[in-house]
Amino acid sequence: MPGAARTAPHLTGTVGTDVLVIGAGLAGLHVATLLARQGHDVILADRRTTLAGAIRTTGIFVRRTLDDFPLPDEHLGPPIRRVLLYPPGLRRPVSLVSDRDEYRVGDMAGLYQASAATAAEAGVRIVLGTRYTGRRDGTFHLTGRDGPAAVRARFVVGADGARSTVARDLGLDRNRQLLVGAEEVFEVPPNGEPPTFHCVLDPSIAPGYLAWVVHDGRHAHVGTAGYADRFPEGLRRALERFSASAPGLSGVNRPETVERRGGPIPVGGVLRRISCAGGLLVGDAAGAVSPLTAGGLDPCLRLSELAASVLDDALKGRAEALEHYSGAGLRAAFRGRLSLRRGLSQVRTPAATAAAFTLLRTPPGRAAAGRILFGDRSFPGHPAAPRLHTAHR
Ligand SMILES: Cc1cc2nc3c(=O)[nH]c(=O)nc-3n(C[C@H](O)[C@H](O)[C@H](O)COP(=O)(O)OP(=O)(O)OC[C@H]3O[C@@H](n4cnc5c(N)ncnc54)[C@H](O)[C@@H]3O)c2cc1C
Repeated sequence: MPGAARTAPHLTGTVGTDVLVIGAGLAGLHVATLLARQGHDVILADRRTTLAGAIRTTGIFVRRTLDDFPLPDEHLGPPIRRVLLYPPGLRRPVSLVSDRDEYRVGDMAGLYQASAATAAEAGVRIVLGTRYTGRRDGTFHLTGRDGPAAVRARFVVGADGARSTVARDLGLDRNRQLLVGAEEVFEVPPNGEPPTFHCVLDPSIAPGYLAWVVHDGRHAHVGTAGYADRFPEGLRRALERFSASAPGLSGVNRPETVERRGGPIPVGGVLRRISCAGGLLVGDAAGAVSPLTAGGLDPCLRLSELAASVLDDALKGRAEALEHYSGAGLRAAFRGRLSLRRGLSQVRTPAATAAAFTLLRTPPGRAAAGRILFGDRSFPGHPAAPRLHTAHR
């Protein structure tokens, strides 16, 4: 693998670069690759020692992302068209089947590593096992396997997730509304059923969001998410309870050890102040997650394209470009989804869930659910990115 050797260069003493990207999730990897391809010198640092570990996502990619971004086919599971929505008690699910392929679950370890190889080939210096610790006197401080290092960068990119320390150090907005999610992942044999996304709306196991089983004939992901302070017995116990009777898994022999994933999910919408003279935020750090579906993979790729084009301009001497990288305008596109999130967060009792299901079983209810689950809308950014950008020049 041509990029592999470059994913572990040493970083000691004080080094200079055009752009320092903190966080090698999908957002950081994408923005770093685009900037390096534009000829800029880029260092990408992540505290994870391997990108195949500490994964925080189920990895469901929606059709729009699969259409617009060249993700490697070998790291994507079979297409999913069927969604089953269950009320508490799991009886009489509402079945929605699309006539198009809607989702594919990524093999995230493979996808992150393939993206890192692409970044390294583009010239990005990737340093793993290296934590960003803070900014002092205009210098960014990192601690890695070889001890501390200092980076003098013209710009820093905070791609360091929902609880971004880069956002804090740049004085930018920070995520305040967060869900927490956790899941178990294991291999499964095909079960003769079409690949299916099972979603359970039950405030006692997923307060304010939903619990899920994705079974695509290769892997099962069993998870739940919700507002941290509303899990009656905590997230861990809720996942255990759900996992014990989760739908779609009858006859599946679970392995003794399963991969566990989890983390915070920002659902307050894209943040308003996501750039300043010293840098900008992308992905979860910028709150770029659909407030309704909590999907962040499509938004993080699209916002990274916009970020790379703004930084390219800034590095070419048009410093004012950064001022136009603002979440305030992007938030307008989320008004509907933010109010639906507020609605979903109010579904707190079995009676409210039952009422929601009565609606879901009507033709307009099914149509609305179909629009949310199979719709064409995505995060504004790509291909809107160049338009938004040039509009301000
Ligand atoms: C349980 C769960 C399931 C989800 N499922 C889906 C899904 O199926 N589909 C979907 O679209 N979205 C999903 N999401 C949301 C989606 O995963 C995220 O929005 C997306 O992965 C964000 O990517 P990112 O690159 O911004 O952040 P991350 O992937 O979180 O990457 C941040 C990186 O920064 C690194 N980092 C953090 N702090 C430091 C530091 N101080 N120094 C160095 N490195 C640091 C971390 O190690 C990490 O690698 C899910 C989220 C969760 C929690």
